[in-house]
Amino acid sequence: MKLKEIISNEIQKRVFLLGNEAFARGFIEGGGKLATTYPGTPSSEIGNVLSKVAKEVGFYFEFSTNEKTAFEVAASSSLSGLRSMTFFKHVGLNVAMDSFITSAYIGTIGGFVIISCDDPNMFSSQNEQDNRILAKFAGLPILEPRNPDEARKMVKYGFLLSEKYGIPVFIRSTTRLSHMRGIVQLEEIERVKRNQYFNKNPNRFVPIPANARVLHKNLVEKIKEIESESEISDFNFIIKNGRSYGIITSGISSNYVIDIVIKYNLPFDIFSIGFSNPIPKDKIKNFLESYENIIVVEELEPVIENEVRVLKEKNNLKTNIFGKDDNIFSTLYEYNPDRVKNYLFKFLGKEKERKIFKIENITPPLRPPVLCPGCPHRATYYAVFKVLRKLKIKDAIFPSDIGCYTLGIGKPFDMADTCYSMGSSIGVACGLSKSTQQKVIAFIGDSTFFHAGIPPLINAFYNKNDFLLFILDNGTTAMTGHQPNPGVGFDGMGEVAPIVKIEDLVKGIGIKFVKVVDPYNLSETMNAIEDALKQEGVKVIIARRECALIRDDRLRKEGVIIKYFINEDKCRNCLICVRQFSCPAIYIENDKVKINEVLCDGCGVCSEVCPFNAIEVIK
Ligand code: SF4
Ligand code: SF4
Repeated sequence: MKLKEIISNEIQKRVFLLGNEAFARGFIEGGGKLATTYPGTPSSEIGNVLSKVAKEVGFYFEFSTNEKTAFEVAASSSLSGLRSMTFFKHVGLNVAMDSFITSAYIGTIGGFVIISCDDPNMFSSQNEQDNRILAKFAGLPILEPRNPDEARKMVKYGFLLSEKYGIPVFIRSTTRLSHMRGIVQLEEIERVKRNQYFNKNPNRFVPIPANARVLHKNLVEKIKEIESESEISDFNFIIKNGRSYGIITSGISSNYVIDIVIKYNLPFDIFSIGFSNPIPKDKIKNFLESYENIIVVEELEPVIENEVRVLKEKNNLKTNIFGKDDNIFSTLYEYNPDRVKNYLFKFLGKEKERKIFKIENITPPLRPPVLCPGCPHRATYYAVFKVLRKLKIKDAIFPSDIGCYTLGIGKPFDMADTCYSMGSSIGVACGLSKSTQQKVIAFIGDSTFFHAGIPPLINAFYNKNDFLLFILDNGTTAMTGHQPNPGVGFDGMGEVAPIVKIEDLVKGIGIKFVKVVDPYNLSETMNAIEDALKQEGVKVIIARRECALIRDDRLRKEGVIIKYFINEDKCRNCLICVRQFSCPAIYIENDKVKINEVLCDGCGVCSEVCPFNAIEVIK
């Protein structure tokens, strides 16, 4: 992370930034004064940067408890005149949706930019929804950057457009753009002075039905007016070489199209769209009139393609349009240069030639994600496994949630039976405990519990459910890069913050069985589980132990190095540590069990697992 470069005042300086770092730079250059997020891949680096530089640059940043709250904090700050930004991964928009739709009606005073980082191919997500559809549904202008420098420019432009029309502006990134590096040319950091005063205007800010009817009409008129901005926008450009076919493309796909067409000298002129809602209708109509055949290349859903087809029909044009409907391009997964090349070759009937360029037989080895060595969640899963075996419970159900612990799905634990969305483990546990006679043991992390776990836990208590909930409290938001949450004692500005104690919150609901255990202490954890499974009602065990990566970092700084080894004189080769516990640091070589010293983080739980005390500390 190049923090100095991201906040540099050196105008014209060219720096090499991640797409997400460039979004942060755009916020700073554009005079942004308030930014919010709930961390989620592929958006997390924007918040990690802003959190670290907020004080020095002079703006407010927060990690909110969830995306809906993040959205509301930023939207309301815009109503007080501040340039504001909120950003999250694509599924975060589902959480923010209620306020998101209405904010299009209410509009903005200070510029308000929303960045959605979509995840085609689902590298770290449960679905690959295309949020352009949701932004169009809300009636918002959409910008689709092609590279990090455009990411920077579009945030700044988004603030201006938002202020000019009083409407939130939606920027759609994807994993590839957020995580690609590119040259960014720095521009002056704007010093924007605002009154920071909320001028009351209930006709506009309180959409009771009579007001909402007017506001909706205004929104429709605004987006119609914004069409003229899209027509003249430099973000929409044509690369014309007098070729036989046309391609209309947008965002990151534009890069693949331009590269492939130039590299293989293919007969396409290209219309690249960066301002994609409203689309530049006149420009596109003119483009359609110039060709007999046009292909639309865009990742995931045929958002632009459908608009182009409507334009063709409305204008009675003869142009043939090819895209998803013609099975040329897929609506599935991420595009890349090879896929786009294959599609274009297929369209041109050059499939035989396509094979010439194919890189054959490179199959990287499968590397399924696993819990880290020393992860406290592994110890919790092992304790659950041991107790269920002892009590001869074979058909327990394990609703899981979004976080590292979703990896409980893997062998040997098989402890993730469902996973819908943030906080869903508890709602699902409610349903399964009412609809089956099986034992239900749900897992949720601390950050996810704060995000969306509290209302369903109240539901569980109120509706007299019967299940055990594990809150796996590792004191951080681990999977997205260790951002803070309300349980850790500091905030997004790096300042000391009050701690929300999970056990107090749970007891406050009225739940009687609440135990806090250290998962590294297997016997304590197993006793708590056994007690819980013998009682009826909602039981909560908080398994509290810091994330292994944070512990490693802390011990390294303290100069403490603890490693374990297998004492071969004591080891009976029962393989319990391998088969039932499966720490990645433990492996078999020449029929003997060993511990990889580099991977071992010295948690010592395996020494509790071994029935023959064969695992010992290296002295
Ligand atoms: S559990 Fe103990 S005895 Fe069994 S294989 Fe592992 S180290 Fe050896
Ligand atoms: S002490 Fe044992 S369980 Fe912990 S990291 Fe090392 S090998 Fe794995």
